[in-house]
Amino acid sequence: MDLIAEFPKYLARTAFIDGKYSAVRSEESIWAIDPSTGEHLLEIGLGDSSDIDAAVLSANVAFEKARIELKPQDRQNLLLRLAELIEENVQTLGSLQAQEMGMPLTIARGAVASCVEFCRYYAGWATKLYGETIETSAPGEFHAYTLREPIGVVAGIIPWNAPIPSAFYKLCPAICTGNAIILKPAEEASLCVLALGEILNEAGFPPGLVNIVAGRGEIAGEALSSHEGVGKVAFTGSAETARHILRASATNMKRVTFELGGKSPDIIMADANLEKAIPQAGWAVFGLTGQLCVAGTRIFVERPIYDEFVEKLKAYAESLKIGPSHQEGVQLGPLVSAAQLERVESYFALGKEQPNNIATGGERLVEGNYSNGYFVPPTIFTNFPNESQIAQEEIFGPVATVLPFDTIEEVVKLSNATQYGLAAGVYTDKLSDAHLLAKRLQAGVVWINQYGASDPSMSFGGTKHSGYGREKGRLALDDYTQIKNIWVGLS
Ligand code: NAP
Ligand code: MG
Repeated sequence: MDLIAEFPKYLARTAFIDGKYSAVRSEESIWAIDPSTGEHLLEIGLGDSSDIDAAVLSANVAFEKARIELKPQDRQNLLLRLAELIEENVQTLGSLQAQEMGMPLTIARGAVASCVEFCRYYAGWATKLYGETIETSAPGEFHAYTLREPIGVVAGIIPWNAPIPSAFYKLCPAICTGNAIILKPAEEASLCVLALGEILNEAGFPPGLVNIVAGRGEIAGEALSSHEGVGKVAFTGSAETARHILRASATNMKRVTFELGGKSPDIIMADANLEKAIPQAGWAVFGLTGQLCVAGTRIFVERPIYDEFVEKLKAYAESLKIGPSHQEGVQLGPLVSAAQLERVESYFALGKEQPNNIATGGERLVEGNYSNGYFVPPTIFTNFPNESQIAQEEIFGPVATVLPFDTIEEVVKLSNATQYGLAAGVYTDKLSDAHLLAKRLQAGVVWINQYGASDPSMSFGGTKHSGYGREKGRLALDDYTQIKNIWVGLS
């Protein structure tokens, strides 16, 4: 199948600026690679600081124009039209995302389809943004009120693991609140984000309101983060990169919001319904080949059911069908890149230092179907201490560590003993245990008796090294707007 041929060649070596695809100013490019086969797909032009300058200039002009010309209803209707067009293009965008990133096709299409309602949700907010009137106690008589205003130009810096949803998590709140946005996709998954340009034009977005520039993080990403013409950075990626962005953004006191990584605990109490908990906890860590920020990678199991749980999780892991992203029935695709494979293999090497503690997996797959891609099996490490590197570092591969515990106090301590605080899971039918754990766990989201539920209305984000600010839901609107006080003297 030659999916790339379905996409116009103008995606090659270009950026989408001011409503047009045009060649990047820089000479540099990189090949998009299908991680299922190692095949070269298309050359991506890597924008540099001059491309970013052009994108920022165009976005600022578009922002100023939109402040006057685009009414809330216009912004609502743009997002509604965008939703319609995404719905029409689910198959092709999903296929491109699958091929470029290695996500199984049905999952990739589902991820694109989820953006349709996401656009509609934020379309609704465009007409529901309010300031306040305030009765003050200041001496004299005043009419005092606030205006909720957009920030200006937002930079949306996104990772490769769910590129299209990540783009919409930033684009929709930015546009509904009246900002302009520049998207900088990750090198490993730029094509599917660049492909959105054509759809934005068809939806009638004014030129420059959304620009898309691929490029290396340390060049294009850094240029955006330090640019005087950018008012906010909305970033999803690693904590290490977030620290770079924080420093770079100091130039003009940019607002920043960070959706970062995790090493999330998933707690199985002895009374849990294992028929339900095993596939939930298994998918939470192995799904998307473990390349998910909320992956439930540290599984804590109450001691009486520990051995049974490990046996059943192993059977579940070994039942998952691994293969190329476009093959029928595949549940787990390859890792995204050779670099990611190398990273995951380095943790396999650490695991091999204690071979008796590998319940399953731990070795790259290289035979037959797997020979040219970056395939690894779901891997379970048992009894590695919670302080070990394997249990503490975000691997971003399908690797679970499973540890027993005896009391709630102990599992709270173990769960919170990490620099991260993104997500957590709890499986129990005992209401008081469920709510006690939900209260004590340091995480931005706690899922009880399921893992990973999400909705446009539920705000999402982390604590500790997992970042700050919230994406999705009503709370994201605060991060894309600023409040101005107005005092009118009446006496
Ligand atoms: P990453 O290396 O931090 O990259 C994320 C984005 O930042 C990419 O577009 C990257 O560009 C760019 N970047 C790199 N260096 C930069 C710099 N100095 N200045 C500005 N931008 C820079 O992360 P990743 O490897 O793509 O993604 C994996 C990480 O993201 C994991 O830690 C994962 O947990 C986290 N993640 C979190 C969430 C969440 O919602 N919390 C969701 C998904 C992923 P290039 O790659 O093109 O160089
Ligand atoms: Mg990267």
